[in-house]
Amino acid sequence: MTTRPQQGRLWIVGLGPGAAAMQTPQATAALTAATDLVGYATYLERVPLRPGQVRHGSDNRVELERARHALGMAAAGRAVAVVSSGDAGVFAMASAVFEAVEAGPPAWRALEIEVVPGISAMFAAAARLGAPLGHDFCALSLSDNLKPWPLVLHRLTAAAAAGFVLALYNAASQARPWQLGAALDALRPVLPGSTPVAFATAVSRPDECITLATLATADPARADMRTLVLIGSAATRTIERPGAEPYLYTPRRAAPCRAASCRAT
Ligand code: SAH
Repeated sequence: MTTRPQQGRLWIVGLGPGAAAMQTPQATAALTAATDLVGYATYLERVPLRPGQVRHGSDNRVELERARHALGMAAAGRAVAVVSSGDAGVFAMASAVFEAVEAGPPAWRALEIEVVPGISAMFAAAARLGAPLGHDFCALSLSDNLKPWPLVLHRLTAAAAAGFVLALYNAASQARPWQLGAALDALRPVLPGSTPVAFATAVSRPDECITLATLATADPARADMRTLVLIGSAATRTIERPGAEPYLYTPRRAAPCRAASCRAT
């Protein structure tokens, strides 16, 4: 990575799920090289400020405004790092920046934009549980802020019916209290009641909390805005262990599919 602040640069940096050990050295290098740090104030607090660096914290909901602000500063010659939790490209700031570039002035297209990947919440949560994402899986955001709720349910039930393990982001928040309950209700006719459901909250943070349930017993009130909900497929297995939490994993091999659309032509 080269540092040319006089020319203007933009990094979009994934900080990982929380623990410093889960932030990549490439992310740390970009954060150190930046003259300006832009992001949701809570995430910016995770980045140690070096002398001369300026922090531009903003509220959670204003992604596009924040992206334009960052692009404007980079176009003016600053070296700007936009931060996201987890991976910056998964339900996060990288898409907001590219939306702004596409709709913005031509000068923004000339900028050198580097997306620095991070460990996404689903990978950190899966690693704590065992290997639930070991076969085909699907990541979905349950937020209906930027897509209609019927589309959320359509994708969710289609992915479950197709046999994907489901990683649910934005499962709950104070502003979206009922959506996870409705999502679990929509899955109950599609998946067996014994399907494992894991609630992984604040993974890699000091207050990390991981609990296992089944689709029949899962309580949506268990999730908050820092929870990743992982729902197994029919193939996902639980390995019970004496005096310890079970391992959850999905084997690498899938059984033949009996659906009509699966038949060889
Ligand atoms: N870009 C982020 C996701 C942002 S969406 C990533 O790749 O992880 C915000 C959602 O991510 C939260 O509602 C929650 O579902 C999940 N999340 C973020 N950090 C988490 C953590 N430490 N533990 C569990 N889930 C987390």
